Amino acid sequence: MSTTAVTAPVRNYRGRFAPSPSGPLHFGSLVAAVGSYLDAKSNQGTWLVRIEDIDTTRVVEGAAKDILTTLEAYGLYWDEDVVYQTQRHDLYAHTINNLNNQQLIYACHCSRKQIKALGGIYQGHCRHLNHSQHHSALRLIQQHAICQYRDLIQGEVHIGQDLAHEDYLIKRSDGLFAYQLVVVADDIDQAITHIVRGADLLEPTARQLSLFNQLNHTAPQYAHLPLAVAKPGFKLSKQNYAPAIAKDNPKPALLSAFEFLGLAPSPELVELSIEKMLSWAIDNYSLQNVPKVAEIQISQKLNSQATLFTQINK
Ligand SMILES: [Zn+2]
Repeated sequence: MSTTAVTAPVRNYRGRFAPSPSGPLHFGSLVAAVGSYLDAKSNQGTWLVRIEDIDTTRVVEGAAKDILTTLEAYGLYWDEDVVYQTQRHDLYAHTINNLNNQQLIYACHCSRKQIKALGGIYQGHCRHLNHSQHHSALRLIQQHAICQYRDLIQGEVHIGQDLAHEDYLIKRSDGLFAYQLVVVADDIDQAITHIVRGADLLEPTARQLSLFNQLNHTAPQYAHLPLAVAKPGFKLSKQNYAPAIAKDNPKPALLSAFEFLGLAPSPELVELSIEKMLSWAIDNYSLQNVPKVAEIQISQKLNSQATLFTQINK
């Protein structure tokens, strides 16, 4: 059994799981779902689900519904209506207006190829060129560069100076709102206090923190879970065809997710109902017990009770 740290619950905790519907849930995304759920519920908090479908070029038809059905099969019920980014364009346009009124936005006509040729980090080429914003990519003048922050699991996180100071995109040249913008607008709108997600988002978090500052909002607390990898540096993802987790037999993968998150379930736990498995996990979960590593390698067959984990420190 894991040791339960004696910490007082956070008041008015609001957390979220925010998958992009580019395919079915795999073990890596299950870990993020279960981790954010347990962290919220062990703080008597509210747990929300947001479908991050803003990048319509990556959306797979039917995936959002499949993700929600899978969460239900795993007993992970959300507390408020599911939010879809594609239904929130007004919120994002409003956020861009807010930044525009502060004269912090400019249009950029540079191609990805041009930026790559200059070293990959955007150097502010168009900042004073006064291009028309019509049909243009938009960048935010970086006034609140964050080079360092404290993560609840990973500890001090350091970001390269160049990356931290880059005027990053908030609207793409194809007209789509950029991820950094929408995720912060959503987290503010949904009053999110805690973000528990995979460590692949450690770097973008610095930009999101700077945007919270720019928009005059207190940022949530961040806890980045170790990333589930097939081998060092290669995360399990929809892109490398990680297998979808089973909807008809959720208990083994749920048990593996508990172990991944630093819980010590006995194998007999699978004899309980899903609901009772989750309530055991809520009672025994502690953020302090989540391995403080960047990656965990999954070295045995997934969806089996023989799943083996190897912690990788970067
Ligand atoms: Zn430019």
